Amino acid sequence: MPASLASQILHLPSIDSLLRHPACSPLAERYGREALLGALRQLLDEVRENLRQGQVEAVETSPEVLAGRVGERLASQHRSHVRRVFNLTGTVLHTNLGRALLPEEAIDAVQMAARYPLNLEFDLHSGKRGDRDDLIEGLIRELTGAEAVTVVNNNAAAVLLTLNSLGARKEGIISRGELIEIGGAFRIPDIMARAGVKLHEVGTTNRTHARDYEAAIGPRSGLVMRVHASNYNIQGFTTSVPTSELAQLAHQHGLPLLEDLGSGSLLDLTRWGLPAEPTVRQALLDGADIVTFSGDKLLGGPQAGLIVGRKDLIARIKKNPLKRALRVDKLTLVALEAVLGLYRNPDQLAERLPSLRLLTRPQADILAQAERLQPSLARVLGAAWSVSAVPALGMIGSGSQPVARLPSAALCLRPHSSKRLRGRCLHGLEESLRGLPIPVLGRIDDDALWLDLRQLDDEPAWLAQLDHLHA
Ligand SMILES: *Cc1c(COP(=O)(O)O)cnc(C)c1O
Repeated sequence: MPASLASQILHLPSIDSLLRHPACSPLAERYGREALLGALRQLLDEVRENLRQGQVEAVETSPEVLAGRVGERLASQHRSHVRRVFNLTGTVLHTNLGRALLPEEAIDAVQMAARYPLNLEFDLHSGKRGDRDDLIEGLIRELTGAEAVTVVNNNAAAVLLTLNSLGARKEGIISRGELIEIGGAFRIPDIMARAGVKLHEVGTTNRTHARDYEAAIGPRSGLVMRVHASNYNIQGFTTSVPTSELAQLAHQHGLPLLEDLGSGSLLDLTRWGLPAEPTVRQALLDGADIVTFSGDKLLGGPQAGLIVGRKDLIARIKKNPLKRALRVDKLTLVALEAVLGLYRNPDQLAERLPSLRLLTRPQADILAQAERLQPSLARVLGAAWSVSAVPALGMIGSGSQPVARLPSAALCLRPHSSKRLRGRCLHGLEESLRGLPIPVLGRIDDDALWLDLRQLDDEPAWLAQLDHLHA
């Protein structure tokens, strides 16, 4: 090792002197002495090693530079892993991106519940212990016509709990056309097995008749189940038994009918020009004894699973010890109450509920936005890319209406490069967009990167970070 290097290593600032350096004392306060000490030791070890290999300039070992580097390191180690992103994928209720966005009313309620004690399970009239489901029972009755409700963590939990409470050690009768997989590990046959319900499948994939159910009902039957096949579509030569007829059949034999609506909606969405989804009220009117649905799909609230229906059955479900394991927390519950409250005034719902506002945003509006933003993006990307504002088709997401497309608009980014290099260019740009301070997520399709602008609310923040983009 040359003598100059050896002396440089020898003259590296000591840990003690760095700890006393003015740039370091705020770090000790912010991150704690332990963390600062650890980071300094690690940095000095690395610098020493690099010096030995001749990779470091003398100026990089000054106390100022070292203190600065240790500050950056600690900041990046302590940065939250949770990041806000721009969802420009075209899928509104994107499970991987957190599904529905909450309205201000729910955000306020979450803040209140996070900050103060509250009457979560406490009856303020009697001064006695209460039940957390009571906080939303009145609203659910009003909005769905159900007699009673209980809430759990998500709809998968709602289905599991209901099956286990009403059908354990008995047979659950279900059409072969409804034995679906929702994604992840949620498959109806598996959930039934875990719930202790013996699967009794009837009919065929495309056609199931009332007589198929009838033939299956016997002394071991515990319940009849219907699952709204939300994420796929069977077309052509198909038959299924309407809920009303199925309910009649189940009731003749003293069996409850469970209907898992998946998304489920509290209101008829066609009034906003959206595809028809079965409503919870209609399923109950048709005779379903219990209906389960998600809080964060079309309802537009927090992640939750709602179980609504007959009072006696809900009481049995609430007594199941699994209910305690699957119960929702206070933040969810107060957010849910606030969202349900908005449904009391359907005329204002599309303005006040973010998911509905986004789902109903007119295409002309989105296209105008795309045209407005096109020049800025074209300027940043330069001559290597063509940037155009074009109509596009989006999706609701979360398994709702998989075939339906939402007329939308996008910025369509096409590289001018040769066909051979195109894929690499697209993935490079996709990565750069993901690397922005607020990551931008689009989708690659047909040799182009599409940024669907339906969900771009915060235009200033989006524009402000464009200069960081290195395409
Ligand atoms: C989405 C869905 C579920 C699961 O609901 P989560 O709230 O995601 O747990 C169950 N059943 C159906 C039919 C669904 O569409």
